[in-house]
Amino acid sequence: MKTSTPEKIVILGAGLVGSLWAHLLTQKGYTVDVFEKRPHPDLEKAPQGRSINLVITSRGVHGLKVAGLQDQILPITVPVYGRDIHSLKGDRVFQPYGRDKSECNYSVSRWDLNRALTRLLLKKNTPCHFEHELESIDLDLKKLVFKTPQGLKTVQYDRVFATDGAGSVIRKAMVAKNSAVYQESVEWLGSDYKELAIHESTMFDKNSLHIWPRGTHMMMGLASVDGSMTMTCYLPRENHEFSFANLKTKADVHAFFESQFADSVRHIPNLEDQFLANPQGRLATVRMSHWNYKDQIVLMGDAAHAIVPFFGQGMNLGFEDCTTLIQLIENASPKTSSDWSDVFKNFDELQRPNANAIATMALENFIEMRDKVGQPDFQAMKKIESIIEKSYPELYRSRYGLITYTLTPYRLAFEAGQIQQKLLSDIYSDLSSKKLKPEDLVVEIYKSQIESRMTDWFKKNSISLNTYRA
Ligand code: FAD
Repeated sequence: MKTSTPEKIVILGAGLVGSLWAHLLTQKGYTVDVFEKRPHPDLEKAPQGRSINLVITSRGVHGLKVAGLQDQILPITVPVYGRDIHSLKGDRVFQPYGRDKSECNYSVSRWDLNRALTRLLLKKNTPCHFEHELESIDLDLKKLVFKTPQGLKTVQYDRVFATDGAGSVIRKAMVAKNSAVYQESVEWLGSDYKELAIHESTMFDKNSLHIWPRGTHMMMGLASVDGSMTMTCYLPRENHEFSFANLKTKADVHAFFESQFADSVRHIPNLEDQFLANPQGRLATVRMSHWNYKDQIVLMGDAAHAIVPFFGQGMNLGFEDCTTLIQLIENASPKTSSDWSDVFKNFDELQRPNANAIATMALENFIEMRDKVGQPDFQAMKKIESIIEKSYPELYRSRYGLITYTLTPYRLAFEAGQIQQKLLSDIYSDLSSKKLKPEDLVVEIYKSQIESRMTDWFKKNSISLNTYRA
């Protein structure tokens, strides 16, 4: 294990990924300097309408565990056991996520989580330079220029771990340096989001993810540990009857909520004022052709691969970047430039296919959550899948389960999902042709089909179906 290094290692951005990464690198004995544009966490005010509640799933919990932080972080989260779907008529259907209550996601305010991770870094005396906003980088001279309250500051580096989020200045500098090699794609979603706060949620079960799926738009609600709840509305930006462009007055907002999310209206305080005052966030999928620049820079987290939030995996993927890269560093014990370059290239090769797979699945899930979850055929297939998963836990694991409760690489979970889609649809067609409902499923009849079409594939790819335990 390393105890000190003469290298100048910079982590740019103390967001969720940068903070966890600083914990992991310092734990391995590396000396790092963290630069962050936001103020010190003790001086920062909670952002209005930008609190975002996240779910931490297996990969996120694994990241916390590897860093030895799960005992400090999990107590500030709320376990979530399934989706509570609110129909237009006001009915509710609960879809459990896991096989039993030991399988859950953890809901947390992004701000609380970030603040806790940063405070824990400060407790370990990790040098964190707040109010340092990277203005530019000179890739040839290995120089960073920061805007600070005291004026511009220049910092030399040997290596930069760029965790500066979806709008990464470093990623843009790589593209500007050689756009033939470093190719960036930013695919904006046609829908934006807005947050609404419920200070005390007594009406909605705090251990569920609440969804109001309405076809082209939807609302979601997740609880925080203090009993509050954050609702997030996703709507087309424009060119649609129900779009942000058409919700400009209090009367518009009131009428929209009364017609679409009626059971929520009286629980959201100052609904119309909050809606009109809170910022409208945009969502994008960011892909980058190469994540490293020589042995000097590596992109991680949203800086490398921002994804839309509909699988609840953006940060979980970023935490998986951290556990993957730290393992590669541990295995290689890089000393020379060429060692570091190899580590960064291996990281890119291993993790980029996973990021691309979950980016695709997150976009697919947008359709699933805003629309399909409310459809009877979809609910029937989910019921069939849930019966199979509970009856044969050693033979079958849903794509959702593979992603949220195991550490199966995302790219393999994606492939498994394609096989499952066909298998479930065949079983559903068979039941329908016999005029049977999903509840009538005699699962033994399909056992050999499940084994030959899915279980054998799991075995071939050495996929463990066991739940990851913190
Ligand atoms: P960020 O969190 O964006 O952090 C980047 C940091 O860099 C920030 O602190 C920023 O201030 C700093 N920075 C930026 N530029 C500079 C600069 N020039 N100089 C210095 N510092 C800089 N993910 C999940 O896993 N589960 C979920 O349920 C989930 N839900 C989501 C819901 C919504 C509505 C949204 C929008 C996202 C959601 N995500 C979710 C995604 C998750 O928020 C991101 O993937 C995660 O925050 C990425 O972490 P990061 O550290 O890479 O980037």
